[in-house]
Amino acid sequence: MLPKTESACFVIADISGYTSFLAGVELDHAHDIIADVMDTVVRCLRPLFRLAKFEGDAAFFYAVNDKVDGSLLQDAIESAYFAFRKRLRNISQATSCQCSACRDIQKLDLKFVSHHGEFIKHRMAGREELAGRDVIVIHRLLKNAVNERLGGHAYALYSDPCIQQWASIHSRRVSSSTESRSTSSAT
Ligand SMILES: [Zn+2]
Repeated sequence: MLPKTESACFVIADISGYTSFLAGVELDHAHDIIADVMDTVVRCLRPLFRLAKFEGDAAFFYAVNDKVDGSLLQDAIESAYFAFRKRLRNISQATSCQCSACRDIQKLDLKFVSHHGEFIKHRMAGREELAGRDVIVIHRLLKNAVNERLGGHAYALYSDPCIQQWASIHSRRVSSSTESRSTSSAT
């Protein structure tokens, strides 16, 4: 049986500063910190999104639902970002460890990319994986020039199809509320 094509809103939360953070530090503390803050991000996005996969310094999410509009998505990303910053601060205040991972924890940052498109699920080595052109597209979005342009700040990047999807959700809502208003004025 051919796998079913579904459409979804995709988000990748990617920790920046990860490579230098892991280079030459006490690896177990660095890994504990990354796992801890990633867990915070996952819990924050989970009501709206499902976790597709952890990818080292990133987490890949998707929502099979055509209701993820601009304000829902931006609110989710914003709250995940602030939860991440707060968690970094709490871990850093709670530790007295002087290893370079624990000292440099505040240098970690988070960036988001988002895209809307199609995927199929397939099983690889007993695990379910998302595949398809748009899954590749969202991963390519991480390789962008935003960092150079913004001077290394945290950011959220939304693809064109993602923004078009918000517009179509919005216009559907407007037309259905106009319809219900004209129905109620007709009665
Ligand atoms: Zn440490």
